[in-house]
Amino acid sequence: MDFTFLTGIFASPWDIIRNLVDIAIISYILYRLLGLIKGTRAEQLLKGLVLLLIFTLAAGFLKLTMVNWLTEKLWILFAITLPIVFQPEIRRFLEQLGRGGLFGMRSLWSDKGEYDEMVAELCLAAQSLSRSRTGALIVVARKTGIGEYLESGARLDALVSASLLQTIFFPNTPLHDGAVVIRNTRIERAGCFLPLSDNPALDRQLGTRHRAALGISEVSDAVVLIVSEETGQVSLAYNGEIKRDIGIDELKLMLEKKLGETGNDTSWFRR
Ligand code: ATP
Ligand code: MG
Repeated sequence: MDFTFLTGIFASPWDIIRNLVDIAIISYILYRLLGLIKGTRAEQLLKGLVLLLIFTLAAGFLKLTMVNWLTEKLWILFAITLPIVFQPEIRRFLEQLGRGGLFGMRSLWSDKGEYDEMVAELCLAAQSLSRSRTGALIVVARKTGIGEYLESGARLDALVSASLLQTIFFPNTPLHDGAVVIRNTRIERAGCFLPLSDNPALDRQLGTRHRAALGISEVSDAVVLIVSEETGQVSLAYNGEIKRDIGIDELKLMLEKKLGETGNDTSWFRR
């Protein structure tokens, strides 16, 4: 092992500060990177990578020739398959680099037209679901990865339309129970089970649908639309708070405001 890097640490106060800054920057980058891939396919990949790294180090240390040979081949295989498996993500990443909007400064939504259409369809859906007193729970995911909560649902991958949302939440159909999750202007899943909030301040009149909406808004930056089956009221949960009984015009304004907020664009990383 080469320990020369240690001499730098004990040199002078200036060197100590420099090393601390160095460590802080790397920690921050790692932290952001982990946040970025949480709940995505890349998270699984990273786990696999770490495992392979441990194997490689152990094999090298213990001088296990055969395992060494195998891990070497696995690294090559990995290098070849990586761009193939992550082709969609890499493409989106490069496309956004090309548009010059990777680090904030612009809206989270890559296509303004699609985004406007989604908001309009969501409002239409809320209106008709409210009129027919059909219970609904719609999560619009933003930056935070919420992959772990999606596994329970059925995969759809469809364009957001009011009629599809009405169909999904039609009572006593297979997918009406649970939440619909929208990501990148597409209905990704339906019938998802969300974490329930244990906020004691929540009105006792509100049941589990509203608690689930609040729950996901506490653990992510998602914007959640709720239509009550009992009252037909439309509510919006965001950032651990719930705004109840909002009219359609107000809903449109709120959706535009909450969804339009700029931030670090990581949508290229999400499916
Ligand atoms: P409503 O005003 O529509 O009656 P509520 O807040 O009173 O809503 P409930 O009456 O308990 O809530 O609604 C139950 C429905 O909420 C379930 O049928 C299911 O579709 C949905 N729901 C309950 N818990 C969850 C959960 N953890 N994740 C997703 N959906 C849930
Ligand atoms: Mg109820």
